Amino acid sequence: MDQKLTDPHSMEARTAQLAANLAMVRGQLADAARLAGRDPATVKLVAVSKNHPAEDLRALAGLGQRDFGESYVQEVLAKQEALWDADIAWHFIGRLQTNKAKFVAGRFAVVHSVDSLKLAQSLQSRLRGQGSRQEILLQVSLAGEAQKGGVTAQNAAALAREVLGMDELDLAGLMTMPPYSENAETSRPVFAALRELRDALERELGARLPELSMGMSHDFRQAVAEGATLVRVGTAIFGEREVKATSG
Ligand SMILES: *Cc1c(COP(=O)(O)O)cnc(C)c1O
Repeated sequence: MDQKLTDPHSMEARTAQLAANLAMVRGQLADAARLAGRDPATVKLVAVSKNHPAEDLRALAGLGQRDFGESYVQEVLAKQEALWDADIAWHFIGRLQTNKAKFVAGRFAVVHSVDSLKLAQSLQSRLRGQGSRQEILLQVSLAGEAQKGGVTAQNAAALAREVLGMDELDLAGLMTMPPYSENAETSRPVFAALRELRDALERELGARLPELSMGMSHDFRQAVAEGATLVRVGTAIFGEREVKATSG
């Protein structure tokens, strides 16, 4: 373990830094909601903690942050074990391979990244064995080739229809991740398109899809303006991540 994380003085400083960052993001989130004429309580902040140590999550949980987003299966399972006694709602937001669905099913408040029938079926078959249910979102790719992961808008209705027929999965809404751009306004039409797709699916399928998971550190204000109910913010809370080569 990193020396500086076990030193109580550094941990105190780290907690103070996380507290300041969290307060700033929460303030900006509330401002963005009010500016859009929305109640700030209708937007949930998911702190994206991938590549950050369990100690950081524990510190933030102690500050009242409850929702955490993680992208890598092995990493999050280890954190869930280390933080079994903390009041945390876990969100799986990363790309999920079908063969790892069994490790994820039933262990998360929300799985944001379901983008194929095969993956939905893998989650379903695992849950059937456990007799439990899993809330999920469909990840939609709206920006064409530039985006990895996600069902296309054209195929979203067919996938949503299949998932709505699965007793073990609760389809709550849609997620998207626009390609990164220096200019956050570039994300806005993508966020608007996700909301419009959601509205169209609700009409077409006669289902309620209340959740829109969109917006990251650099563009969560735009996402809130376009109706986000879940924003996934990492860097603005934790600072820069060390880039890892693995994705498992
Ligand atoms: C890492 C990640 C985030 C957070 O990104 P930041 O720019 O650090 O806020 C959000 N969503 C997904 C899917 C991610 O993988």
